[in-house]
Amino acid sequence: MNPIGKMTPAILSLFLIIPVQAQQKNKPQLCIGYYQTEEKAKAQLAKFSATYSNLEEWQARAKNIRRGILRGLELLPPPPKCPLNPIIRNKREYPGYTVENVAFESLPGFYVTGNLYRPVGEGPFAAVLCPHGHFKKFNGGGRFRPDMQYRCATLARMGAVVFSYDMVGWGESIQCKHEHSKAAALQTWDSIRAVDFLLSLSEVDPQRIGITGASGGGTQTFLLTAVDDRIAVSVPVVQVSAHFFGGCVCESHMPIHKSATHETNNAEIAALAAPRPLFLISDGEDWTKNTPCVEFPYIKNVYRLYGKEENVKNLHLGHEGHDYGYSKRLGAYAFLAKHLHLDLNKVRKQNGSIDEDPVVIERQKIMFVFDEKHPRPATAVMGDDAVTALFNKR
Ligand code: ZN
Repeated sequence: MNPIGKMTPAILSLFLIIPVQAQQKNKPQLCIGYYQTEEKAKAQLAKFSATYSNLEEWQARAKNIRRGILRGLELLPPPPKCPLNPIIRNKREYPGYTVENVAFESLPGFYVTGNLYRPVGEGPFAAVLCPHGHFKKFNGGGRFRPDMQYRCATLARMGAVVFSYDMVGWGESIQCKHEHSKAAALQTWDSIRAVDFLLSLSEVDPQRIGITGASGGGTQTFLLTAVDDRIAVSVPVVQVSAHFFGGCVCESHMPIHKSATHETNNAEIAALAAPRPLFLISDGEDWTKNTPCVEFPYIKNVYRLYGKEENVKNLHLGHEGHDYGYSKRLGAYAFLAKHLHLDLNKVRKQNGSIDEDPVVIERQKIMFVFDEKHPRPATAVMGDDAVTALFNKR
């Protein structure tokens, strides 16, 4: 006789619940926003440190975390790399640099949109990716903000090809909403394909590719650096924190930090840059306030295992807040110039200070790649469900 047939509903429900609990235990877990206290974050880093004592052990841990991130993003295996079919148009010429409007396909029919800033003169040139973060206001927000334009154009005047690209659901990326359930994966994949796009430009030196962004753009910076070894230099700004995991859907709503086989936090993900040059810019008013005494020492210890302690630096601006303002850009310019062999002298005033004044701040409309005359191709995949189906198609 089937014993289940004699059980009361209450006892029967135990049998039904146990497998569900076992499943939940093994299920990847989300670590969102202020997931843990500052004290717990310190204890967690100490626990992580205790799992390795030499380079070989760290590399094994790093490999497992990389796999955990990619698995959490559903990028393991990655989607096939489709042709980029780049569109580059409407070149504007300014003193020392040019700007063009760009679109390319990161998945068939899914467009990455942005602006390409190029130095005047002959290459080969270094290249820098500039994700924009969630800052709004001014000129429509995102890549149109004046501080983004200052950063991208100044780096171009220093001798770098710079690509500034929309987060999904921002600017001209209108094919799904920003709060798409796969936003973290789509944005990381867009960043990987943005490296492919830079490498498709004949003047770009493949050995000198960097990335820098603030806030959500900082998250994009350390995630791409962690999973793509073509990135040679990384500058995440006001975002690397051991206790704050990123509050947006595009940062922490896929299980990149914790699963049955891995556990990490954003400070350790940033450490996956080692031994490549890494510059943490932090401030006194947000979740990076502890960087000099918590996150930076942990990451520096990883670099020590490689004998490359000098490759990681921290600029802490204790009296400043959450932005990528002029003083933070100055730090980034100097670090990127040193490690990507850019020429700071091209942007100095006679008194030696860095001059952003020659940068022409453009209106939003002129920066669009798609407009009435040049509409988005009819093959574009539109809507959240269609984008999900496209992403899931392997
Ligand atoms: Zn977001």
